[in-house]
Formats: sequence, structure tokens, C-alpha cells
Amino acid sequence: MTDRYAVIGNPIAHSKSPLIHSLFAQATGQDIEYAAIEGPLDGFAVAVRGFIAAGGRGMNVTLPFKLQAFDIATDPLESARLAGAVNALKFEGDRIWAQNFDGLGLVNDIQRNLGVSLAGKRVLICGAGGATRGAILPMAQQRPALIAVANRSADKAHDLRADYAAHATLQTGGYADLAGESFDVVLNATSTGLSQAELPLPAGVFAPGALAYELVYGKGLTPFLRQARAAGVTQLVDGVGMLVEQAAEAFEWWRGVRPDTKPVIERLSVPLI
Ligand code: NAP
Repeated sequence: MTDRYAVIGNPIAHSKSPLIHSLFAQATGQDIEYAAIEGPLDGFAVAVRGFIAAGGRGMNVTLPFKLQAFDIATDPLESARLAGAVNALKFEGDRIWAQNFDGLGLVNDIQRNLGVSLAGKRVLICGAGGATRGAILPMAQQRPALIAVANRSADKAHDLRADYAAHATLQTGGYADLAGESFDVVLNATSTGLSQAELPLPAGVFAPGALAYELVYGKGLTPFLRQARAAGVTQLVDGVGMLVEQAAEAFEWWRGVRPDTKPVIERLSVPLI
């Protein structure tokens, strides 16, 4: 029997998840159907329960429901508990298991696909929203020399210090606080990749040979990547690998089979021009 999965969000038409999971299913011979569901803004839990009642086995969750998905989970796992947000659900009887694979997808893309080890590196994450929350634990597990988090509202970055105290010693602040510092890996986890806004990064923030990683994908050369290129960075990357890697984690969690991500990343990549 075909097992049913779906991604739920609002809006959802833009989602690449149905394509990614159907490519994974074809490549691994898994008999699944994967749909896109536009969840009503005031009816997320009802939509999820309807999907479960119709035989659904698991769901990916995207904006704006990642926090509500945490609330309906009976068994949130550590990645979801720390982030306070969920991007994958698994349904077993009355239980709703919840994970957040965004951060692990990011780390896998950096280390496995790009070949950049995070151990001993100075890492800067720009932004203090949901994507940053998901990234801190899997980043810290790779033992970088430093994880700094800079945010437009510095207080929001400072709040992360207490929340993650058991897992990471974070340096937090606003962008001006970065003056005089440089980093081997600089991640843009703000939503500026969807606009034309530039981050007020002080000169010298990119160390020689740095990786500049834009979490937004499919937008070509974003303002952050342009800033990095102007500062002499040659390794410029967008978030398509992160997207495909988090999907692979969910697929393996649901199906017990690890799909090959490389051909899917290649298919979804757009040139950074
Ligand atoms: P979020 O929770 O809404 O956080 C947005 C962040 O952007 C906040 O830190 C906010 O700062 C900052 N920001 C917004 N406009 C800004 C501006 N003009 N200047 C400086 N900072 C600004 O979003 P999120 O869920 O963390 O996602 C962040 C980005 O990552 C999104 O664009 C999303 O598309 C991308 N993402 C990609 C993947 C992937 O698989 N590739 C997965 C998850 C997320 P304040 O706190 O000061 O408002």
C-alpha cells in the first residue's frame, strides 16, 4: 500500500518538498505519495488530524506553522525542544513525534557536501530567528572554536545564551559588536536574502578563505553574497543543499532509507549570478 506524506504551510505553492521527496522515493524504490497541503491559518491542528485520520504517516511543516507543530507534538525530540519549533512530524498510533532537521541539514551540507569541517572554526550566524535556533545545537556538536550570533535586535541574540547554556557558549550581540573580529564561516540566517537589505557587517568580518553561506535558496546572488564577494570571499553558497539535506533526514527518519542528495541538489541549484 502507498504510504502518505505531505508538507503543510501557508502559502505552500512554492514548496520544493514534493519534488524532493518524489525524487528520493524514485531513487530508493519507496512506495510513497507526498502532497502539498495549504493549511488554514486558523486550523493547523485540525488539518494535521484530518491527514492522520486519512492514513498519513508523516509531515514536513513550514511557515507559519513550525511553532504550532511543536504544540501538537506528543513526543518532541531534542532538536525540536531546543528550537521550540518543528519541521518534521511522524505519526504512530496516538503519538506525534516531532523533529527539527533544519540545523542538521545545514551542518551536513557544510561538512559533507562542501567539505568544510566546523571543528576549531570561528563561526558567525547572522540572525536570531527560528533558523538560528535550529542551527546552534548541531553546530555546537561539531566543536567549533566559537559560535557568535549577531542580530539586528541584539536582545534577541542575547536571549539565546541562556536557552542554549547547556549546549554551547555563545558570543552574542549586534552587528557593530563584531568590529575587529573575523570568522571562517559566516552564515546569513536572516530573511534579508528575500529582500534587497544589506547587513551592516563591519569590514574584516570574513577571514581569508572564509565560507559565506546564505540560507535563502534559489535567489541567485543575494545582498549578503554580494557583500561577501565584494570582501574577497570566493566560496559563496546558498541554502539549497540545506533544504535537500533536511529533507533527506526526514526521509530516512520516516522510511529507514538514506537517499543520495547530490543529484537532487544539482537539479534544484540555480547559478549564483
Ligand atoms: P525568522 O525567524 O523570521 O527570523 C528572521 C531573522 O531575520 C531575524 O533575526 C530578523 O532580525 C532578521 N531580519 C529580518 N529583516 C532584517 C533586516 N532588514 N536586517 C537585518 N536583519 C533582519 O526567520 P527564520 O525562520 O529564522 O529564517 C531565516 C531565513 O532562513 C529565511 O529567509 C528562510 O527562508 C531561510 N531558511 C532556509 C532554510 C533552508 O532549508 N535553506 C531553512 C530554514 C530557513 P530581528 O530579530 O531583529 O527582527
